[in-house]
Amino acid sequence: MPMTRRAERHSLSDWLALHELDPVACRRILSAVAREVASASAGHKWSASGSYGLDPETAWLRTADAMRAFFPAQRSIIDDTFEKTVKTLVARPNKSPRALTLDNGPGTYPTIFYSFLGEPSDSLVIAHEFGHAVQIRASRGKFVSPIMREVCAFIGEMAQLSYALCGDARQYRCLSQVWHKDNQKYLGTHRDHLDSALLQPEMPYNYFWNYPIARYLAIQISQRCSRDRMWTLFEGDLSVRGVLRELAFEASLA
Ligand SMILES: [Zn+2]
Repeated sequence: MPMTRRAERHSLSDWLALHELDPVACRRILSAVAREVASASAGHKWSASGSYGLDPETAWLRTADAMRAFFPAQRSIIDDTFEKTVKTLVARPNKSPRALTLDNGPGTYPTIFYSFLGEPSDSLVIAHEFGHAVQIRASRGKFVSPIMREVCAFIGEMAQLSYALCGDARQYRCLSQVWHKDNQKYLGTHRDHLDSALLQPEMPYNYFWNYPIARYLAIQISQRCSRDRMWTLFEGDLSVRGVLRELAFEASLA
C-alpha cells in the first residue's frame, strides 16, 4: 500500500515525468498489461478460501523464511530488517488501507502497520509490506520511484507464493487464488483508471496509478530475470525505463 500520500498535490504529468514516461509510452505499457491480464486469468477460478488458521506471528516468521529462501545470498540484510522493523498490528476501520510501511529515513528502520484477520490475503499483505521494508533498507536512502517500490513489494508477494509452492500445497492454492484475484484488480480496474487518467495531464496524482505497471513489471521480471538481477531492484539500481530496456519491451511490441 502507499508509503506516502504527500505527493497528492502533484499531477499525472509529474508522475509520468518522475518515471521518465510520456503518455504514448505509458499507453503502450497499458496495452501489454491488458494482454497480461487476459492470459493471467485464463482458466483460473477463484472462490472464497475459507478459514486459514494463521496467527500474525507465524505469518511474519513465514514471510521472513520466504524472503530468505527467495534471496539466499541476502540473508543478513533480510534478517536485520526483520528483527529491527517495528511491526504494529492495528484494527482496520472501514475502507482504510490494510497495511502501510513508513520509511523513517536513511540509517533508520521502517515501521509497518498492518491489520490481520487470519485470511490468506493477510499473508500476502504482510509479504508485500516486508518487500517494501527490505527495499527501503537495501536501497540505503537512494531515491526509488513509486512504481519501482511497488515492484519490490510485489516480488515480496511472489517470494511468499514460491515458498508455499515448495512446501505447502494447500497454502499455495489459497495464496494463488488471492494473487489471481488481485491481478484482476491491479491489471484490470487500476489499469482502466490509469488509462482514463492519461487523457487528463493535470489530474491530481493518485498512488493507485503505480500498481498496474508495477504488477506487470514484477510478473515479467520474475519470468525473465535471475534472482540476483531481481535483487538489484531492491538496491534501487534500476529505473522503470531501465527495466523496460532490460525486458526489451520496445522490441517485444514490434
Ligand atoms: Zn505497496
